[in-house]
Amino acid sequence: MTKRVYNFYAGPAALPLEVLETAQKELLDFNGSGMSIMELSHRSKIYDEVIETAKKDIKNLMGLDDSYHILFLGGGASTQFAMIPYNFLKEGMAGDYIDTGAWSTKAIKESKKIGETNVLASSKEKNFSYIPKDFTIDENAAYLHITSNNTIRGTELFTFPETGNVPLICDMSSDFLSRELDYTKFDLIYAGAQKNVGPAGVVIVIIKDSMLGKIKDADLFTMLDYRTHVSKGSMFNTPPAFPIYMVGLVVKWLKAHGGLAEMEKLNIKKSKLLYDAIDNSNGFYIGATAKEDRSRMNVTFRLKDESLEEIIAKEALENDLVGLKGHRSVGGLRASIYNAVPYAGVEKLVNFLNDFMKKHS
Ligand SMILES: *Cc1c(COP(=O)(O)O)cnc(C)c1O
Repeated sequence: MTKRVYNFYAGPAALPLEVLETAQKELLDFNGSGMSIMELSHRSKIYDEVIETAKKDIKNLMGLDDSYHILFLGGGASTQFAMIPYNFLKEGMAGDYIDTGAWSTKAIKESKKIGETNVLASSKEKNFSYIPKDFTIDENAAYLHITSNNTIRGTELFTFPETGNVPLICDMSSDFLSRELDYTKFDLIYAGAQKNVGPAGVVIVIIKDSMLGKIKDADLFTMLDYRTHVSKGSMFNTPPAFPIYMVGLVVKWLKAHGGLAEMEKLNIKKSKLLYDAIDNSNGFYIGATAKEDRSRMNVTFRLKDESLEEIIAKEALENDLVGLKGHRSVGGLRASIYNAVPYAGVEKLVNFLNDFMKKHS
């Protein structure tokens, strides 16, 4: 018997069981090729169908037309921190950033190495426990960079800034395809797959065609120039073929389950169940972030009695509830309840939290 636990890791993270089963079934003979997908040429017709379908499905789910390009790149979301300013931060312009947590901070650090970088707002003084909402966008900025979900601290953006003519760039790594939004507001979106839509090894970059004309007039490194990957359809070099295939299966699974509207409903329901348990615990559990900015993906909380935090993580493990320890930089507990974590998993976690509270209060 195969044992499956409820996986609350922040990334790599849970994948839908149906997706894993499909991958398992197709592993030895992909689509009649007599090979696994990992052994196929990325230039073959069979693979072309895989990558093109994945692109089309992502566009469909997000309501994007052909003025957007879907890229599948290596280097993780972290390489995008550098690639964005490297391509778009021109002389005489500044890159504007909102600093909402560790990942934004890393993006800012890279930008500063390349050019003028302005942090318009930051919630650092309060340990990134909220989303700053009061800031003025510089009309001449090269772009505004935001992070829609802060994986480590557990905050999420629910309203997005109006940027006028300034391109809006968003790191959506940890809430990608988790909800309905007007995605046409964004000029560039990127997301490491391993949080919400696949295994580690591929970053999805969605770039509006008009952004290509805003790239610096310089002889950029070929691999770090967005135009290379747009013009070659992510096939300039060997793409991360297996992770792309897995992302393709996950987006098919999303489509089969009602798309982003249904996924958003489920994510609201799951996160509410868990936050309600925290809020109704009479202070035994304490939510770690401002209520209006609470992430539906990464639920962060502490125990009033911090000495119980080791014990609870251990007991959770014994109950097949895995990955609940907070990020090493912040401590406490964090339940990552991405798309693939079923409602039943959150229910089991809530029952466990309630039982633990009864035993220890
Ligand atoms: C995990 C994460 C990253 C880094 O992703 P890598 O693929 O590991 O480089 C960047 N931004 C956010 C919001 C993340 O959650």
